[in-house]
Amino acid sequence: MYDVIVIGSGPGGYVAAIRCAQLGMKTAIVEKYPTLGGTCLNVGCIPSKALLDSSEHYHNASHTFKTHGINLSDLSVDLGQMITRKNDVVKQNTDGIQFLMKKNKIDVHQGFGSFVNATTVKVTKDDGSATDIQGKNIIIATGSKPSSLPFIKLNKDRVITSTEALNLKEIPKHLVVIGGGVIGLELGSVYARLGAKVSVIEFMDSLIPTMDRTMGKELQKSLKKIGFEFYLKHKVTAVESKGNEVTVKADNDKGATVEIKGDYVLVSIGRKPYTDGLNAEAAGVKITDRGQIEVNDHLQTNISNIYAIGDVVKGAMLAHKAEEEGVFVAETLVGQKPHINYNLIPGVVYTWPEVAAVGYTEEQLKEQGRKYKTGKFPFLASGRARASMDTDGLVKVLADADTDEILGVHMIGPRTADMIAEAVVAMEYRASAEDVARMSHAHPTYTEAFKEACLAATDNRALHI
Ligand SMILES: Cc1cc2nc3c(=O)[nH]c(=O)nc-3n(C[C@H](O)[C@H](O)[C@H](O)COP(=O)(O)OP(=O)(O)OC[C@H]3O[C@@H](n4cnc5c(N)ncnc54)[C@H](O)[C@@H]3O)c2cc1C
Repeated sequence: MYDVIVIGSGPGGYVAAIRCAQLGMKTAIVEKYPTLGGTCLNVGCIPSKALLDSSEHYHNASHTFKTHGINLSDLSVDLGQMITRKNDVVKQNTDGIQFLMKKNKIDVHQGFGSFVNATTVKVTKDDGSATDIQGKNIIIATGSKPSSLPFIKLNKDRVITSTEALNLKEIPKHLVVIGGGVIGLELGSVYARLGAKVSVIEFMDSLIPTMDRTMGKELQKSLKKIGFEFYLKHKVTAVESKGNEVTVKADNDKGATVEIKGDYVLVSIGRKPYTDGLNAEAAGVKITDRGQIEVNDHLQTNISNIYAIGDVVKGAMLAHKAEEEGVFVAETLVGQKPHINYNLIPGVVYTWPEVAAVGYTEEQLKEQGRKYKTGKFPFLASGRARASMDTDGLVKVLADADTDEILGVHMIGPRTADMIAEAVVAMEYRASAEDVARMSHAHPTYTEAFKEACLAATDNRALHI
């Protein structure tokens, strides 16, 4: 009998298993695929970032090296090698998780996990053989899968999801992306940088619509420069694939129809929780109408010894959110009182410029009727950004009008994915904009833009604009 069985080895599941083992619990993890790491390591965060880095090198070599005084001849893309390197990066990471399981003495059961009852999980291997394992507690961390629309036939050849987009055999001539959210824009960027024309169709009136509106507007300007075209406020009504051609039809908000032809269409309209075959009902676990495992504030399901974390429960579908929840459940199981501040889980888009945010958006503050002040600083005024020729974007700080407490930080610019950590720390300690504005930031760094935006928010006293 295990103390804990974790079903699913994504960032939620494997981190939960490690923390459980650290806390002295006899732990098992069940994973249906031969490699550990889940969506994030195999077909998500890590491979997409590997391709984003490679394509960015190519884009810089073909677009900015000359200005830097570096001349290249015979520049070309070897997509096969790019994908091979990406696969190597994935392997290093998934092997790393295997090592961590061993190091922490966690039993790895490779096979499909399904509930027999509230304490028994059947693990079925590909060859059909099955073993039952027992656990006092069970953590469901089965993650998510790409969503689609009922009329779209995903043939995974020309009409693809993010998973296939990470393994294309050729650079699309014209990639049509359905959905202007994070995944569509990141993978669209990969192929736009490699020379594809990329058309994005988005139902809402802005890209990355859940983020602060300023971010979507700025990102749209930057992506246009690398060959993106956008159809905002367009609703896709049909997707057809014939031979090497795909046709996407979409209606705009005035009822006019556009027809876009390309050679690949990437469907990236979001992800849905994955519980297929889990047989949760055998344990009596409730699933919501949206397909999520229902949990309370302790991430506990309606069955007291069964917990659920990550993409399969409510909240942002992010690897680091899943990880925090994994640690939270492990610590709850040994009687600790952990806490997650969901408002301070940062969100990042790894386009170039990168977008990163934490806390409330301006739209949310308006909706709450909260009085706030805004400080902005453009990267165009940053010496570091000028030196690296990365002057697109800005930092926007929202602070309480009376107390000066930072309520939201929204950044678009170079390396903001890393810079946002400073804002998270500041906000966890409930810093005021002036607190950050009075701290020394190394010169020249991109981080000075955050300090300057805080100065601007404090009382409009940015120094370099
Ligand atoms: C292209 C792409 C890029 C992304 N980039 C980022 C990023 O940059 N940053 C970020 O924070 N997030 C990113 N995400 C989202 C991130 O991958 C997810 O939020 C994260 O993986 C969720 O972790 P999880 O542990 O909940 O589930 P998952 O990672 O989905 O893992 C679930 C695991 O459970 C296994 N499983 C499911 N059912 C069973 C069963 N019955 N038995 C056994 N095993 C089972 C699955 O095989 C899988 O391995 C990206 C996603 C995609 C698709």
